[in-house]
Amino acid sequence: MAKNLTFTLMAERARVFRCPNCKETINTTAENCPYCSISIDHRAAEAAADLMDRVNQACSEATDLKAEVAATGGEVFLFGLLGSLLMRLWAFAITRPVMAIRWWIRFGAIRTDDPNFIRAKRDVMRTSGFAAITLLVLLIITLVSFYLTQNSE
Ligand SMILES: [Zn+2]
Repeated sequence: MAKNLTFTLMAERARVFRCPNCKETINTTAENCPYCSISIDHRAAEAAADLMDRVNQACSEATDLKAEVAATGGEVFLFGLLGSLLMRLWAFAITRPVMAIRWWIRFGAIRTDDPNFIRAKRDVMRTSGFAAITLLVLLIITLVSFYLTQNSE
């Protein structure tokens, strides 16, 4: 408990943002930028730090999403053709586009020139496309296996 509190205090004290002048990452408590010496407006610094937190969260969630969608795609292509596990694959394949949509709703409106965020956004876009293709392939597999089952009876 005490350890958690210390952690929180440290995290609050150590907030960082990008200097509006030189774009170096600096502490919100600084009076002046240590790189270019411009004076820091603390309210603007806190707002910039909030944005940076959201951007970082968006980037890390985009990375997770990319990994999970790739894993789902792999499962669908590897096991889907066996005709078994179809229900389980559907559960997986549906979840990922929902996660991608959730990412767009939460972070899609962020305006920043942060290159990590731009990359994350591009990744989510690709990932969404891949998730859509995965769903389509799964749909085809399901229809084909349904058709084959109907005809063999
Ligand atoms: Zn600076």
